[in-house]
Amino acid sequence: MTQNLSVGDSALATALSQFDRAVHMLGINGGTAAMLRTCKRELTVNFPVRMDDGSVKVFTGYRIHHSTVRGPCKGGIRYSPHVTLDEVRALAMWMTWKCAVVNIPYGGAKGGVLVDTKKHSLRELEGITRRYATEISLFIDPSGDIPAPDMGTNAQTMAWIMDTYSMHRGYSVPAIVTGKPINIGGSAGRHEATGRGVMFTVREAYKTLNWDFSKARVAVQGFGNVGSISAQTAYEMGCSVVGVSDIEGGLYNSDGIDIPELIAYRRQHGSFKGYSKGKFITNDELLSCDCDVLVPAAMENQLTQHTAGSVKARMVAEGANGPTTPEGDEILNAKGVIVLPDILCNAGGVVTSYFEWVQDLQQLFWEEDDITKRLERIMIRSFHDVYDKSKALNTDLRTGAQCLGIGRVAESHITRGLYP
Ligand code: NAD
Repeated sequence: MTQNLSVGDSALATALSQFDRAVHMLGINGGTAAMLRTCKRELTVNFPVRMDDGSVKVFTGYRIHHSTVRGPCKGGIRYSPHVTLDEVRALAMWMTWKCAVVNIPYGGAKGGVLVDTKKHSLRELEGITRRYATEISLFIDPSGDIPAPDMGTNAQTMAWIMDTYSMHRGYSVPAIVTGKPINIGGSAGRHEATGRGVMFTVREAYKTLNWDFSKARVAVQGFGNVGSISAQTAYEMGCSVVGVSDIEGGLYNSDGIDIPELIAYRRQHGSFKGYSKGKFITNDELLSCDCDVLVPAAMENQLTQHTAGSVKARMVAEGANGPTTPEGDEILNAKGVIVLPDILCNAGGVVTSYFEWVQDLQQLFWEEDDITKRLERIMIRSFHDVYDKSKALNTDLRTGAQCLGIGRVAESHITRGLYP
């Protein structure tokens, strides 16, 4: 099942290019580097599900473990008609570095199902999820691999996985997934964690650079879990949120958007369309809009050789995983744009997932205020760890973060030694 990674998919090409650069800087030896460049286990499942009209459709899904050196694997499950094996490999690898950057005891994993959620009823999605969970139950385990939501999945998806796994065991196993609803063992603050973590990181970066955070004008691409909470947190922190977007396009208002009002409008109407207090813009226009902080929070490969040149922001805060290609990075670095890399900036989700897992294992639940304070402390500490590493190596924050994460995993690997 184990397979060497090769450059084929663009997210994977990005992940490997970043890895090679960091490993070269760290001077990590051939055997250790080769191991870290490779996913440990890969599972592909093809499974039938009955549709509402009585027909049977076969779906394909993946679950990949990149590393278990520092602890159980952790990573989300993505539902998208475009998911590829290489994309899941890249995302699993980023999870390993991310968990090491924020210094929590996990390795990286990721999963995906080729499905367009918009084309299925809730009952069909439940059937797909329960069967996928059964197929990957070979791989998942509260002390081995703990899935979580990602693009196209949510707390309800996690509830179905938890229930399916628990039915097979004969007792409730809340620690099998994180990002669950609170009434079945989810954690307060998990839903908000990634977006809050993004803005804690931006605020700390502003402070460290002696920039005035109260004047920050923020634009956010993507308005799902990460995007909408980043926008809401920025608004609550007193920033002016001037632009937002989702897959259908965006909205721009140089005077700032009332985010709570927009969220309520979108909940009622299903999109930004018709909201009058802003100009309707395309997604490309959102990326190049006049702002100080750009938060790509939709998907990978958004800031590329074609789009990075027109970015006007002075800071890019990566809410999404892999939103900037290596070519995009070069352009942004040359322009002096500060890029807060994904494996640092969006780590708030996995940090709070870790809190959820710990609470489930202990059957002892914490207050949201306590969780948010712990998250804030870890994000601030991790920002400084990355900042200091990039200063010490005289490099950008992404390479600093990669070197920090990869270096920690390599050290753990060396300490454990090679079996047998
Ligand atoms: P989501 O499904 O809740 O939201 C995705 C959003 O992106 C939606 O608003 C969608 O309309 C928009 N979108 C999709 N394609 C787009 C396009 N081409 N242009 C503009 N907008 C587009 O997903 P999410 O959980 O918010 O995840 C978003 C990103 O953040 C992903 O890269 C994910 O891997 C990453 N991430 C998520 C978490 C988490 O806790 N959910 C944690 C870390 C990283």
